Amino acid sequence: MSGNTEPAASLPEAGGAGAALRRTILNLAGPVTGPIGSLTSVRTRAPEVVLTFDDGPEPGGTDRVLEALAAHQATATFFMLADRARRNPALAREVLAAGHEIGLHGTDHRRLSRLPPATVRTQLAAGTARLEDLLGIPIRWFRPPYGAQTPAVWRAIRRQGLTPVLWGPCAWDWLDRPAEVLAAQAARGLNRGSVLLAHDGHAGPEDGADDGPRPRFDRGDLVRAVLAGLDERGLRGRSLSGALVVGAPRTTPWFLR
Ligand SMILES: [Zn+2]
Repeated sequence: MSGNTEPAASLPEAGGAGAALRRTILNLAGPVTGPIGSLTSVRTRAPEVVLTFDDGPEPGGTDRVLEALAAHQATATFFMLADRARRNPALAREVLAAGHEIGLHGTDHRRLSRLPPATVRTQLAAGTARLEDLLGIPIRWFRPPYGAQTPAVWRAIRRQGLTPVLWGPCAWDWLDRPAEVLAAQAARGLNRGSVLLAHDGHAGPEDGADDGPRPRFDRGDLVRAVLAGLDERGLRGRSLSGALVVGAPRTTPWFLR
């Protein structure tokens, strides 16, 4: 996920553009029905939130995020671009070795909802195979780039044996803003069981994306600020599978072109 689905001019106010986007998604989707759902949060009694990072691995981003997570003994789920992981295999393996979880964000960052169905199937199969071959682990979770998912894309994800994982609160960290401003944004609506969307990389033309200029803030600073805020509230950051040890997935029909 990066900026193309939202206005890039400024951060949204609480209940502003982000909430409007979610309402649009729900309106498009109609009533909540489990069988066509995507995971958007975790129902849990544990004082945990799910931390997710997209668009890596990226030198100068992923490593900074790893340091910050380690300092707070937090774990996270990293949704990687498979071709990036092949270009940065040591960094991808470092994420795994540090005790974090890895999901698939695509071979590249093209919007699947605009690709022919056969290409979507090929992309999902290739991305899964490349990450599994590189890391030697089964890939379970998939996050569609930009959250763009039609019913046909959803079915293709499920047929690949993957579960679509979207999000709740969002750090808006594809924008170049001070880390503390983005951390305050991330804290909005962040509660027990929330799935927070943040980034350890920035998708660019080499990933099939055009998401604007690369932010210059330190991604480690953002993660440290988010985790400090969680500490104050008695909450911990966990990977998705880590949170599901005691929690249960909560699903929502999420369809967005
Ligand atoms: Zn992304």
